[in-house]
Amino acid sequence: MYAGHFAIGMAIKAAAPRIRALPILLGAGFLDIVDGALIVLGADRVTPNLHAGPYLFFDLTFIDWDHSLLMAIVLSLLWAAFFLKDRQVAVVAGLACFSHFLADVPMHNADLALYPYAAEHWGYGLWGRLQTGSWILEGIFAAALGGWAWTRFRARGVSIGWPIIVLVVLFFNLSPWLSPMKQVATLAEPTTHILHGVLVLSGFLVPGLLLSWLVDRAERRGAAPASDVAVRA
Ligand SMILES: [Zn+2]
Repeated sequence: MYAGHFAIGMAIKAAAPRIRALPILLGAGFLDIVDGALIVLGADRVTPNLHAGPYLFFDLTFIDWDHSLLMAIVLSLLWAAFFLKDRQVAVVAGLACFSHFLADVPMHNADLALYPYAAEHWGYGLWGRLQTGSWILEGIFAAALGGWAWTRFRARGVSIGWPIIVLVVLFFNLSPWLSPMKQVATLAEPTTHILHGVLVLSGFLVPGLLLSWLVDRAERRGAAPASDVAVRA
């Protein structure tokens, strides 16, 4: 899952307006930020496979260090620990981070373990079963959450038009036709796995930071009372 993770983050942020966007929106992608780094370093392994699914074009051969239940819990606690100054922020940040693993379960093709090096690997495998259909399903899921978040923000006078536009761009960028992974999967080793890792890492880090900035900016604008705006004008 890709854009869907950010949509979940937007919905969590909509439900927890007091909390800054970064612990939530970067948190929702934290497992894949770690995943990208570990793939570059060679601790996780991916294998090019142009038939693997709608937009990744790789088999996730070994991603136990970040996409196993145990490590998802450990990394969620680690992410939460960054925000311990405020316990409520820490709890919501940890939940946002763990939401990533839960959302990946229906999509992933049996590459999710209970703990690193476990024999069994799970995942309902919508990527492999439905191919392009799973991308469309992710879009419907993201649209529903994004729409719900939009109405919640709107009710507080906050317009999240720009973050929604970014979400839509992310969704189409990682489509079966535009995904940069399709090209990357045709390259030789070690370039192919290094570029895969760099794309996963940057694909969650950069949009996570951008969305956090846009949402917090929208919050500030929404919070400015009309009289205040008039005085400044
Ligand atoms: Zn993931």
